[in-house]
Amino acid sequence: MDNILLTLMAHPDDAEILCGGLCCLLSEAGWEIHIATATAGDCGSSTLAGDEIARIRRGEAEAAAAMLGGRYHCLDRKDLLVRYDDETLFDVCGLLRSVRPRVVITHSPSDYMVDHEEISRVARASCFNAPIPNAPAPPRSRPLESIPHLYYADPVGGVDPLGRPVLPSLLIDISSVIDAKTALLACHASQREWLRAHHGIDEYIEGMKRWARERGSLTGVEYAEGFRQHLGHAYPSDDIIAGVLGPLHRPFPPPDHGGIE
Ligand SMILES: [Zn+2]
Repeated sequence: MDNILLTLMAHPDDAEILCGGLCCLLSEAGWEIHIATATAGDCGSSTLAGDEIARIRRGEAEAAAAMLGGRYHCLDRKDLLVRYDDETLFDVCGLLRSVRPRVVITHSPSDYMVDHEEISRVARASCFNAPIPNAPAPPRSRPLESIPHLYYADPVGGVDPLGRPVLPSLLIDISSVIDAKTALLACHASQREWLRAHHGIDEYIEGMKRWARERGSLTGVEYAEGFRQHLGHAYPSDDIIAGVLGPLHRPFPPPDHGGIE
């Protein structure tokens, strides 16, 4: 497998917010970057019609991917209707067989929004399915040689839907690429302006930096992103990101973390 990263998230800007720093670091390390979303973000406006804001956001996502020298893919699902279903599994298996990633990043299995959780399950299943010759997939798509390495980004706000903290097992120091991550996020101007109008401050960028500083404080760096690796049966368990980007910081999990996922 070549050094290819695929992020599979629900909405445009999720990847840039949750793992944009990692994308920048792997791009610098020579990896090919693919950013895929389930939807084009048709509910991302309080004033524009769904198809109009989706068209704008698709362009914003393409610009961000291009900044990484990468490609943007959209599964053309609808916001709030992302589901773990036959059609989505079929399409994502085809996407994996086409992109052929070594590493896949998706949402936390537990997150604040069902769209995020559903596409996370699709990503998990599709990584397992894509090497299986008879798995549901587009005709003539070539099975993967093996299951890609799968990682979950932090849930939004670092908590599950019950408000319990979700601690990362892997913290990536993104201090050197925080400006590049900011530039990626700034591609999503429609969302930035919406939040700016609502909050009166540049919350889109400031919120991202605030969270990255909080994750950085766990490990003594200025800015960090948190991840957990999927370690279920048959999935690769060597920490390939640590191998590529080390030194990495692993203060977690604590010996007794009862009640914390
Ligand atoms: Zn989202």
